[in-house]
Amino acid sequence: MIHFIGAGPGAADLITVRGARLLREADVIIYAGSLVNPALLENKKEDCAVYDSASMTLEDVIDVMKATEASGGTTVRLHTGDPSLYGAIREQMDRLDELEIAYDVTPGVSSFSGAAAALEAEYTLPEVSQSVIITRMAGRTPVPEREKLSKMASHGCTMVLFLSTGLLEDVERELMEGGYGPDTPAAIVYKATWPEQRVYRCTVSTLARTAKENQVTKTALITVGGFLGGQYERSKLYDPGFTHGYRVGSES
Ligand code: SAH
Repeated sequence: MIHFIGAGPGAADLITVRGARLLREADVIIYAGSLVNPALLENKKEDCAVYDSASMTLEDVIDVMKATEASGGTTVRLHTGDPSLYGAIREQMDRLDELEIAYDVTPGVSSFSGAAAALEAEYTLPEVSQSVIITRMAGRTPVPEREKLSKMASHGCTMVLFLSTGLLEDVERELMEGGYGPDTPAAIVYKATWPEQRVYRCTVSTLARTAKENQVTKTALITVGGFLGGQYERSKLYDPGFTHGYRVGSES
């Protein structure tokens, strides 16, 4: 059996209870060494073999899984954040299907949730934005033309950019082309939930400069939108006058 597990955004106690149990029981752990907190490996079995996938190809990873399976062992494939986002798990699952090796997936806390916590912010503020676009700037990995950053930016909603910290001049240009004003609030969140976590608040037009001044080149998320500003409406859900399925409001 292969378990794909989300390790969470960084802090070792942000893995799920299920993920932590499966890690403790694993015979082999393959983890994304560049982003997963090594402290998560402290509770592994004594004879557990550990592989850092940073230097491995998809074929190497599958070979380790195949060998563990043949010897009757259990493999944990530990991905950073939640494996469904930029995790390259589909290609692994498809290979395992071909090999008729069983697997399951345990979700994790994504770094975009970790970033909101670091910012002490709510992405979906009433009358500000009710949608979050998770995307990236096209780099060596292309992005489909219809998802070009400037097009995504035209919605003016909350945006969270992964894998884009090295391309911030382009990010600024495309966000403004799409319609965000240069003064739209933005923030760079470096290593959310890690001890080294840093939050740099800025604006759309100062993203590149802010990253440069603070030497942030990777392991950061870019967040953009009015949710970082001061204006919003309070929620209907907790409005004394508003009636819903669980409470009768004073205005009914
Ligand atoms: N599956 C992961 C994302 C993997 S892609 C998740 O759900 O979070 C790797 C990118 O995620 C990094 O380049 C960076 O943009 C972002 N990232 C991962 N961990 C982060 C963290 N703790 N703080 C800020 N950004 C992070």
